[in-house]
Amino acid sequence: MKDRHPKKERTFVIIKPDGVQRSLIGEIIKRYEKIGLKLIGLKMGVATPDMIEKHYTIDTEWMRKTGEKTIANYKEKGLKPPSEDPIEITKVVLNNLKKYMTSGPVIIMVWQGAHAVGIVRKITGATEPLTSDVGTIRGDFVLDSYVMSDTDGRAVRNILHASGTVEEAEKEIALWFKEDELINYSTIQEVILYDVDLDGILE
Ligand code: ADP
Ligand code: MG
Repeated sequence: MKDRHPKKERTFVIIKPDGVQRSLIGEIIKRYEKIGLKLIGLKMGVATPDMIEKHYTIDTEWMRKTGEKTIANYKEKGLKPPSEDPIEITKVVLNNLKKYMTSGPVIIMVWQGAHAVGIVRKITGATEPLTSDVGTIRGDFVLDSYVMSDTDGRAVRNILHASGTVEEAEKEIALWFKEDELINYSTIQEVILYDVDLDGILE
């Protein structure tokens, strides 16, 4: 991974069951595709609770970080978080995620290109749709919030999962895809995105 050219960075995306149900598969793929990223792996299936647990606990810090993010979000809005203990919050979230993420078919994808992880997170938007920026997928296509999900005892429905770091991406890709399910190929547009000298444009 370390000696790979930066244009070969990879990230892992799940279109969650609500994204599939909302007929957003094409819209989502269009957005990642149009920025210049390359789709190198794609599958459809129904996830098991075991895979969802493995997926979210790949990063040993995820329980703490997600709990802390939730607490900070409540406090920014002047609201009292459901608990002051980040791990306690995330245990409930993980249980609810298992129900949410296994409720219907999902699309899993690997996207490759310069800054794939950061670019996909930027287009995807922040975790809570209420506060995701306008113009992001989560900001434009869904209206859920922590208050909504806590009131009803469920996970936040935000259409997508996207890896948070390059290390997380590599581990998630290895969990969901076999190496021979990923395809190495070139696209025409990579010349204009990455070629050093841009030879061959002028006749
Ligand atoms: P992201 O998907 O933006 O990387 P996290 O990794 O922190 O966010 O959380 C994973 C998923 O768990 C979120 O996308 C969301 O569906 C759900 N989630 C996170 N925090 C909460 C919460 N406090 N309440 C309900 N669901 C949550
Ligand atoms: Mg995450």
